[in-house]
Amino acid sequence: MDHDDPLRAFVRALPKAELHVHLEGSIPPELALVLAARHGVRLPGGEGGVQGVRAAFRFVDFRRFIEVYLALSRCLRTVTDVREVVVALAERVAAQGVVHAEVTFTPMTHMTRGVPADALIEGLVEGRARAAELGVSLMFVPDIVRGFADQAAPTLDFALALRRRDDGAVAGLGLAGPEGDEHPLGPVLDVFARARAEGLRSLPHAGEFLGPPSVRAAMDELVADRIGHGVRVIEDATLVAELAARQIPLEVCPSSNVALGVVAALGDHPLPRLIAAGVAVSLATDDPALFGVDLVDEYLRCAGAFGWGADELRGLAEASLRHASAGPDDRAAWLAAAAAVPGPNRFIGDMP
Ligand SMILES: [Zn+2]
Repeated sequence: MDHDDPLRAFVRALPKAELHVHLEGSIPPELALVLAARHGVRLPGGEGGVQGVRAAFRFVDFRRFIEVYLALSRCLRTVTDVREVVVALAERVAAQGVVHAEVTFTPMTHMTRGVPADALIEGLVEGRARAAELGVSLMFVPDIVRGFADQAAPTLDFALALRRRDDGAVAGLGLAGPEGDEHPLGPVLDVFARARAEGLRSLPHAGEFLGPPSVRAAMDELVADRIGHGVRVIEDATLVAELAARQIPLEVCPSSNVALGVVAALGDHPLPRLIAAGVAVSLATDDPALFGVDLVDEYLRCAGAFGWGADELRGLAEASLRHASAGPDDRAAWLAAAAAVPGPNRFIGDMP
């Protein structure tokens, strides 16, 4: 297939980082069916086999999204389940030229169902080791769900336990779920401060379903090192300029934004305006199994919508590597490898 599309081959060959992907939203339909059968979980569309699940996964509305997401979450119970899901993600991203992925994972969703933290940790660690064999550096972002403030401290405890078990496995502490006045940040600020004191990065979602005030709070109150989405900052030119000056990167997931109605259509996405304003951005998939998208698709869709060529796509790939939570030596090596990838002309009829 790459023979027919030099730009796709080029994007695939570029070393890239995937900085915003949820483990629970990455489970492919084939594996979801195996896990569901193992545990007697009813998956939406499951009676129709892989095709049925694939159709049910195709995003319809937010309620369906949550229904599918929670059904997938119920499939994760044992060390083996977690390992298999991590390995499936690693295999999938490795095939797209991803050298580093930061994987959000919501431990309390599983622990409140009675899954022991040790089983989750062991599955993540075993999956991470297998990913390394595939050439993919994986780090995890245990995240707190907004509105469940009582789960914030246990989520940090989980992150620290995971790091004790596998130094380097944790990128930082995440925050996801519905933004809104009904879920003020107050109760989680303390936990984020403790996480930063422990050397974890602050990696919250913000500026997805709410506008500039949510981004402002992520920047100033959570002291974000990077922001998941953040795209609605575009509604405040002053804040855009500040974000650019401070170079706090955004993890931009265009297909997710379209699917969830954050923007009406890809062509309306603020990404080109954010780049023009000097904001640091990279591309990511968010929930690839649910949005039917992989990272290479995401690059190519943006190229199509915004008239981008190889230079713009190379710039985004390099930005993703610079924004990674990995150490400076890893980032430098990946950037050198990216710089060595020739332009797309090289790929015309020339791929193995
Ligand atoms: Zn997300």
